[in-house]
Amino acid sequence: MLKNYMEIVVEDVLPDLIKEHKLKCDCQICIEDIKAITLNNLKPMYIVSHKGIVYSKLNELNNQFNADTVRGIMDAIKKVEENPRH
Ligand SMILES: [Zn+2]
Repeated sequence: MLKNYMEIVVEDVLPDLIKEHKLKCDCQICIEDIKAITLNNLKPMYIVSHKGIVYSKLNELNNQFNADTVRGIMDAIKKVEENPRH
Protein backbone atom coordinates (compact mmCIF):
# COMPACT_ATOMS: atom_id res chain seq x y z
CA MET A 1 0.00 0.00 0.00
CA LEU A 2 1.35 3.39 -1.00
CA LYS A 3 1.24 5.99 1.71
CA ASN A 4 2.49 9.51 2.26
CA TYR A 5 4.75 9.06 5.24
CA MET A 6 4.36 12.73 6.14
CA GLU A 7 0.73 12.04 6.92
CA ILE A 8 1.75 9.57 9.59
CA VAL A 9 4.33 11.95 11.02
CA VAL A 10 1.86 14.84 11.19
CA GLU A 11 -0.77 12.65 12.86
CA ASP A 12 1.84 11.70 15.41
CA VAL A 13 3.36 15.10 16.13
CA LEU A 14 0.34 17.37 15.83
CA PRO A 15 -1.43 16.40 19.09
CA ASP A 16 1.70 17.25 21.12
CA LEU A 17 2.13 20.61 19.40
CA ILE A 18 -1.52 21.46 19.91
CA LYS A 19 -1.20 20.73 23.61
CA GLU A 20 1.88 22.94 23.91
CA HIS A 21 0.54 25.71 21.78
CA LYS A 22 -2.99 25.86 23.18
CA LEU A 23 -4.99 26.40 20.04
CA LYS A 24 -7.64 29.10 20.02
CA CYS A 25 -9.92 26.53 18.48
CA ASP A 26 -9.24 22.83 18.24
CA CYS A 27 -12.41 21.70 16.51
CA GLN A 28 -12.38 19.11 13.74
CA ILE A 29 -12.45 21.74 11.00
CA CYS A 30 -9.41 23.63 12.29
CA ILE A 31 -7.44 20.44 12.95
CA GLU A 32 -8.16 19.13 9.46
CA ASP A 33 -7.17 22.49 8.00
CA ILE A 34 -3.89 22.47 9.89
CA LYS A 35 -3.16 18.97 8.60
CA ALA A 36 -4.03 19.90 5.02
CA ILE A 37 -1.90 23.07 5.04
CA THR A 38 1.02 21.25 6.64
CA LEU A 39 0.91 18.41 4.13
CA ASN A 40 0.68 20.84 1.22
CA ASN A 41 3.69 22.78 2.49
CA LEU A 42 5.94 19.87 3.31
CA LYS A 43 7.45 17.66 0.66
CA PRO A 44 5.53 14.38 0.49
CA MET A 45 7.48 11.23 1.25
CA TYR A 46 5.84 8.23 -0.28
CA ILE A 47 6.56 4.85 1.17
CA VAL A 48 5.27 1.36 0.64
CA SER A 49 3.83 0.39 3.95
CA HIS A 50 3.79 -3.06 5.42
CA LYS A 51 2.27 -3.87 8.75
CA GLY A 52 4.56 -3.05 11.62
CA ILE A 53 7.37 -1.21 9.89
CA VAL A 54 5.69 2.12 9.37
CA TYR A 55 5.68 3.45 12.86
CA SER A 56 9.09 2.28 14.02
CA LYS A 57 10.67 4.31 11.21
CA LEU A 58 9.79 7.52 13.02
CA ASN A 59 12.62 7.21 15.49
CA GLU A 60 15.21 6.84 12.78
CA LEU A 61 14.49 10.22 11.29
CA ASN A 62 17.07 12.89 11.85
CA ASN A 63 16.76 16.12 13.79
CA GLN A 64 16.73 18.34 10.73
CA PHE A 65 13.74 16.45 9.40
CA ASN A 66 11.94 16.74 12.73
CA ALA A 67 12.71 20.45 12.98
CA ASP A 68 11.40 21.09 9.45
CA THR A 69 8.26 19.12 10.18
CA VAL A 70 7.56 20.98 13.41
CA ARG A 71 8.17 24.31 11.68
CA GLY A 72 5.76 23.32 8.90
CA ILE A 73 3.06 22.42 11.41
CA MET A 74 3.58 25.63 13.40
CA ASP A 75 3.23 27.69 10.21
CA ALA A 76 -0.04 25.91 9.47
CA ILE A 77 -1.32 26.47 13.02
CA LYS A 78 -0.57 30.18 12.71
CA LYS A 79 -2.34 30.42 9.36
CA VAL A 80 -5.46 28.68 10.63
CA GLU A 81 -5.58 30.73 13.82
CA GLU A 82 -5.25 33.98 11.92
CA ASN A 83 -7.83 32.96 9.38
CA PRO A 84 -10.20 30.26 10.68
CA ARG A 85 -12.76 28.96 8.23
CA HIS A 86 -15.67 29.37 10.62
ZN1 LIG B 1 -12.34 25.55 14.78
